[in-house]
Amino acid sequence: MEKVRCLIIGGGPAGYTAAIYAARAALSPVLYEGNEPGGQLTTTTMVENFPGFEGGVDANELMSAMRAQAVRLGADIRRGVVTSADLSDGKHQVTIGNKETIEADALIIATGASAKYLGLPSERKFRGLGVSACATCDGFFYRKKDVAVVGGGDTACEEASYLAGLCRKVYMIVRRDVLRASKAMQQRVMQTPNIEILWNCQTQEVLGDEFGVTGARLQRNDGEVFDIDVDGFFLAIGHHPNSDLFKEWVSVDEAGYIITEGKSSRTCVPGVFAAGDVQDPTYRQAVNAAASGCRAALDAEKYLMGI
Ligand code: NDP
Repeated sequence: MEKVRCLIIGGGPAGYTAAIYAARAALSPVLYEGNEPGGQLTTTTMVENFPGFEGGVDANELMSAMRAQAVRLGADIRRGVVTSADLSDGKHQVTIGNKETIEADALIIATGASAKYLGLPSERKFRGLGVSACATCDGFFYRKKDVAVVGGGDTACEEASYLAGLCRKVYMIVRRDVLRASKAMQQRVMQTPNIEILWNCQTQEVLGDEFGVTGARLQRNDGEVFDIDVDGFFLAIGHHPNSDLFKEWVSVDEAGYIITEGKSSRTCVPGVFAAGDVQDPTYRQAVNAAASGCRAALDAEKYLMGI
């Protein structure tokens, strides 16, 4: 079995930043990036809110640059999906694919979170062409246009409020006749004149042409089908933290986010650290993920030095 000092799982901003810091600390990090190198950010196009890029930066370029920086500093970045883990009795073992098992002195889990989608073929077709799961990332591209947000929770209300400040009109597509969101968020939405809630509605299809989204076909719960014209279609129906492989050992909250100790990245298993969206239900921004990757590498370094 291969043994490494510092193993990082996840090729998003948290994982790559952890690799940059761990490499500079001479921890010889090995990082496994799964099927989506670059992480969630690569599902968007232009990133305009990552500090340091006056005119914004292409999301794929940003992630390629982080990756290249980690490699230049000595990180060993490999492609492979972790299929199981064993963190029992002080072990830090993960299996890649269906055979190769690696043991690490320190393990950093940076597997991210996945936005939930409705699962419609048309939604998949227009992903990045008007369909987005991140208003903060992509809202800016719909200034003075009409958009829709699916969902009735706090995220949907927050995203709708944010978009209302940029867009001409925001439809909220809510499948019941109530919002799940907190009262304060509900009030905010209700008091925003350019948000219209479409109650008891489900999306049948995202409509579009060769340039991207042009609308959505909705069905009311009483059966009536109607179309709305929108340029952007935002999903806000929740996220799923990618912690399933580890939650037998590390503590997770009721939604599955890994719980870390205070401001550190330490999990309840000594030598196992968590960084990025897999432990952050609140901020979910690339710059936060990068910062927590830094923390995880520093915590791992301290752990390996025995302090
Ligand atoms: P939630 O699970 O709270 O809400 C998801 C929403 O999406 C619900 O309205 C749900 O409808 C709807 N939904 C789910 N699946 C579908 C579907 N297939 N079709 C249509 N609608 C669907 O997720 P959030 O991301 O909003 O929030 C997650 C957690 O984070 C919550 O605890 C929330 O309070 C917290 N949060 C807090 C914030 C804050 O305090 N500022 C900001 C953002 C999140 P239904 O109600 O019918 O199930």
